[in-house]
Amino acid sequence: MSLLTVGSVAFDAIETPFGKTDKIIGGAGTYIALAASFYNNKQNIVSVVGEDFPEEMLNQLKNRNVNLEGLQIKKGEKTFFWSGKYHNDMNSRDTLVTELNVLEHFNPTIPDSYQGCDYLMLGNLSPQVQRQVIERLTVRPKLIAMDTMNFWMDIAMDDLKETLKLIDVLIINDEEARQLSNEYALVKAAKVIRAMGPKYLIIKKGEHGALLFHGDHMFFAPALPLEEVFDPTGAGDTFAGGFMGYIASTQDISFESMKRAIINGSALASFCVEEFGTERLMNITKKDLEERIEEFVALTNFDMVQVIS
Ligand code: AMP
Repeated sequence: MSLLTVGSVAFDAIETPFGKTDKIIGGAGTYIALAASFYNNKQNIVSVVGEDFPEEMLNQLKNRNVNLEGLQIKKGEKTFFWSGKYHNDMNSRDTLVTELNVLEHFNPTIPDSYQGCDYLMLGNLSPQVQRQVIERLTVRPKLIAMDTMNFWMDIAMDDLKETLKLIDVLIINDEEARQLSNEYALVKAAKVIRAMGPKYLIIKKGEHGALLFHGDHMFFAPALPLEEVFDPTGAGDTFAGGFMGYIASTQDISFESMKRAIINGSALASFCVEEFGTERLMNITKKDLEERIEEFVALTNFDMVQVIS
């Protein structure tokens, strides 16, 4: 089925306790598209890069069946650049540089061939751009999922609240959920956020897994305990790409299917953190992913023998 992804295609420079990179390929849209490419979908992307973006990476995306008709290449302009430094615990990071460049005046264009897409993943971008994309689709997708971050809560909260009214699934981390809701307890935060629009809420807790809320239902998926976490950049986007890639390929938007989608997203995210940037995602096979999903199943599966008398 067709999945439309909107998100940044970018250059990143990353510093972790294990090392430092120069400009490498990054961007929420890139991670989402790479993760979703493990599933059998027609994938379309809407984004923008500058003239400086390597054609080789665009070819890599094309080779993974990502349609780039909606990716604008701006002559004489520079690609979005983000730089971040992780603290020793690897769970928190500081943004060192955000150069919007081509993203500053990004006007998302939806090619005719993208119209009628069934599933929409709105990567972390300005909530105004995210809304424009929804409004420019002639038919509302069956499921609209969205990511955002505290940056937009700080500078565009009203805009963000308008966009939240239009979507189905919000995927954010615990810190963002607390900021958006003004509630510390995540169960309370989830209630407040779902009253803003999204019927489904996924709260990611980094190495502590992810929670899914819908109606009176709640589901928890752990993160796979890993020997080494090298670079967490893009793990959240990879999770979202795996989640939506799975949903789009099964065409099943039930709560049970979303649970399986979360395990798929978590498995892909666990690969993402093992090397810098997109490196690991570019090198794993479908078989690697299948085996890791089995590890998740084994991690959480148990038989209960009741002896309470
Ligand atoms: P994550 O680690 O999942 O939060 O995603 C990191 C990715 O998000 C990096 O590759 C960045 O290029 C991208 N990114 C960071 N800040 C922004 C922003 N304000 N708008 C769009 N993309 C961003």
